[in-house]
Amino acid sequence: MQNTPLKLKAFLKEKQSQHLYRAPLISESAQQPAMKINGKDILTFCSNDYLGLANHPDVITAFKQAADKYGVGSGAAHLINGHSIEHQLLEEELAEFTGRERVLLFSTGYMANMGVVNAIMERGDSIFADRLNHASLIDASLLSKAKLQRYAHNDINALQKRFAKTSSDNSLILSDGVFSMDGDCAPVTELAEIAEKNKAWLMIDDAHGFGVLGKNGAGLLEQQNLSQQHVPILMATLGKAFGTAGAFIAGSDDLIEYLIQTARTYIYTTAMPPAIAAATRTSLKLVQQKDWRREKLDSLIKQFKQGANQLGLELMPSDTPIQPILIGDSKKALRISKQLKQQGILVTAIRPPTVEQGTARLRVTLSANHNNNHIKLLLDELSKAI
Ligand SMILES: *Cc1c(COP(=O)(O)O)cnc(C)c1O
Repeated sequence: MQNTPLKLKAFLKEKQSQHLYRAPLISESAQQPAMKINGKDILTFCSNDYLGLANHPDVITAFKQAADKYGVGSGAAHLINGHSIEHQLLEEELAEFTGRERVLLFSTGYMANMGVVNAIMERGDSIFADRLNHASLIDASLLSKAKLQRYAHNDINALQKRFAKTSSDNSLILSDGVFSMDGDCAPVTELAEIAEKNKAWLMIDDAHGFGVLGKNGAGLLEQQNLSQQHVPILMATLGKAFGTAGAFIAGSDDLIEYLIQTARTYIYTTAMPPAIAAATRTSLKLVQQKDWRREKLDSLIKQFKQGANQLGLELMPSDTPIQPILIGDSKKALRISKQLKQQGILVTAIRPPTVEQGTARLRVTLSANHNNNHIKLLLDELSKAI
């Protein structure tokens, strides 16, 4: 025990020397492109608020009105007396929006992933997971004690080969829809075919596609025309494009009933505040009604990609608002990010262990609240800093 503080100090020192030390910034403004952070005015390109709904007046009004009516805390878990009519209506509306039989709300996406994977998988079962899956999916897989097999990123052949060697009769294919640090999409149609052929579960985490992709904004599965039959478990978050907080699982009536009985991160935690559910219902209306946000976002993505290509920057194969610039070296990525910050632009340097060794990157994300001048400014500063 006596050595523990020394061990922590050594660890912290090592992180610093490897340029991997991390610390939160302090924001004094709402989530939007122009923010005040650490006392400084700065233009941000790092949030997941892709549609600019986190600070939307209608969402704020819905939140305030619901807080007046229901107070702030939900006071209890869903299965005690924390499940309000706002939660109930949001679940029903999300089920209709995603074309699934039922939806179950969770307080965060991390918890939704933990909850569902652990409810359906146990020791002796097999999980096939994309190597670049989000940390919450990896943690969920590890906790379940099922045999975790990670296949090369988006590599359908590698996945097929692994299936050929497995004998488990309960298997799960687990993948991000839009990969959070790369911005590319999973080959969901092929994944659905393999799942069907092998009688395996397929779960897609669409945290970054939901609200952004598809004709109506219902995400990657809408864009690819995949129903509940093809993808029995859909997870999406509400804290990203929807601008609020929380997450949900969408699927069959039986799946949701089963999760209500068994998902520990649903049962043993306080329900999200009802005002968050009410605000999210307004976000959903905005997502459904106002597709100009998705169109504007698409045009900003095109502008950025074109400009970055002209500058010879190494972009990754992405058409989503996640547009990472591959740098490689952690120290270099950090230096560029610092230089941009001095010029009033916030782009996060993503380094190992969040991404693989040697693939440090600047993770640029775009929002419908950016404008053409913001993109131009970003490109100008990037050309000087890289
Ligand atoms: C953000 C994210 C999560 C976690 O969602 P939270 O609601 O922030 O906990 C899960 N999966 C992916 C792919 C994510 O990007």
